[in-house]
Amino acid sequence: TQHLLTRVAADTELGAFLAVDADAALAQARAADARRAQGQAGPLTGVPVAHKDIFVTRGLPSTAGSKMLAGYASPFDATVVQRLADAGTVTLGKLNCDEFAMGSANENSAYGPARNPWDRTRVPGGSSGGSAAAVAARLVPGATGTDTGGSIRQPASFTGVTGIKPTYGVCSRYGMIAFASSLDQAGPLARSAEDCALLLSAMSGFDPRDATSAERPPQDFHAQMLAPREGATAARPLAGLRIGLPTEFFPAALAADVAGAVRVALAELEKLGATLVDVSLPRTELSIPVYYIIAPAEASSNLSRFDGVRFGHRAAQYDDLVDMYRKTRAEGFGPEVKRRIMIGTYVLSHGYYDAYYLQAQKLRRMIADDFQACFAQCDLIAGPVAPTVAWSLGDQGDDPVKAYLADIFTLPASLAGLPGMSVPAGFGAGGLPVGLQLIGNYFQEGALLHAAHAFQ
Ligand code: GLN
Repeated sequence: TQHLLTRVAADTELGAFLAVDADAALAQARAADARRAQGQAGPLTGVPVAHKDIFVTRGLPSTAGSKMLAGYASPFDATVVQRLADAGTVTLGKLNCDEFAMGSANENSAYGPARNPWDRTRVPGGSSGGSAAAVAARLVPGATGTDTGGSIRQPASFTGVTGIKPTYGVCSRYGMIAFASSLDQAGPLARSAEDCALLLSAMSGFDPRDATSAERPPQDFHAQMLAPREGATAARPLAGLRIGLPTEFFPAALAADVAGAVRVALAELEKLGATLVDVSLPRTELSIPVYYIIAPAEASSNLSRFDGVRFGHRAAQYDDLVDMYRKTRAEGFGPEVKRRIMIGTYVLSHGYYDAYYLQAQKLRRMIADDFQACFAQCDLIAGPVAPTVAWSLGDQGDDPVKAYLADIFTLPASLAGLPGMSVPAGFGAGGLPVGLQLIGNYFQEGALLHAAHAFQ
C-alpha cells in the first residue's frame, strides 16, 4: 500500500486519481496485516484497489466526474465498495471518469482528462478511463468500473488490461450514481482474468437495496474460471467450445490493425481447442441509435435529482426557486451531460415518445433476441471491443457523434444485458493495445473468465 501510494503521488500527470486518502489506506493495510497474522486472510486481504468516482464512498469525495457534485460527501458506501472492503481490500482512493459516466475517452470529466499510460498523448478510453489508466500504469492491481454501453470493456481494450461487465443484475447498483439504470452494471478492471474473477466474486451478489439485483446464491467466479471443461486436455483446455463470430463485428471498415490483432487472438483460441462458427447480429448498427435514445432518456430522468437542494452544487446567486434550479444546473453540468438531458427529455416528450423511445425499446428487445439466436449455435461470441486503438487527446473535439459511432461493438451486449469482457489480444498501430471482446449468455461469467484465463 505504501509503495503504491508513493507511485500514485508521483504520477499526477496521468490524471487517474481524483482523490487519495493515504492515512485511511495505511490504516486499512495495517488492519489487513493483523488479520493475516491471525490466519484470517482471504485472497483479497490487504490488496489495494481504487474505485471509479461514480461509486459513493464514505470518507472520500464522490463527484461522478462532475462539478455538480464537487464537495459532496456521501453518508454511506456503495454496496460494491462495501463488499470489497469486507473482503479485506484496501481503498487507495477514487478514480477519474467521464462526467456521470457519459463518454468514451475520459475527456468529459470536469476534473481534466486521464491519459493512456502506453502513450500519454492518447486517451485511456472511457468512461472508466481513470480505472483503466491506473491499472495499466501499475498504480493499483485492480479497480472498479461501470459499464452502461462499454465503459469497462473499451477502456480495458485501450489500455491493455482485462475488464469484465457481468450480466445486468449481478452487481448491486446501490450507491452507484445512476446514469441509465436499465443498463448500468459494475465490474472490475485488473491485470488478468484471474484477478477479475477474484474481484467480481467479492463485488457481486444479491442486494435487497437494488430492486433489479439478481436473486441468486453467491458465486465463486474463480472456481468457475478454473473448472476444466468436459473433454478438455492440458493442451486443449477449450476443446468443444464454440465461439461465434458475428459477421457484423468484422466490417470492411474495421481498422486493419485491430482486425489483425483480433484474428491472431482467434487463431490462438482455435489452437486451444475452440471452434469458430459464423453467426449474425443483424441489428448491430441499430444498437447505436437505440442506445443513444434509451440511455439519454433514462439519464434525463435520473439527473433531475440534481436540483441544488439535495446534493452538491448550488448557484451562489438567484432570484427565486426556478432561477436557482436553472443556474445550478447550468453551472453544474458539463456540455455532454446537457446534450444528453436535452435528447432524453425530447425523446420522452408527448408526441415524440412513440416515434423514438417506444421504437427504441422494441428494437432493444429484438437485439436481445438476435443474441439468443446466436447462442443456439455457439457458447461464446467474440469480436473486437472498439473499431480502432486509442485515439489522441482532443481528436474528437466537438464531434460527439464520432464518439457515439465508436461504441458499435460494445452497445449490443449492454442493450441485451449480457456479460461481456475485454481481454488483451495484442497490439495495433503505434504499439497500442487491442482488446478481444468475449460475450456470453446470461450469467455465463464463469465461461467468459475460463476462456480468457486459458487464452492468457
Ligand atoms: N460511451 C458510452 C456513452 O458515452 C458508454 C458509456 C458507459 O458505458 N458508461 O454513453
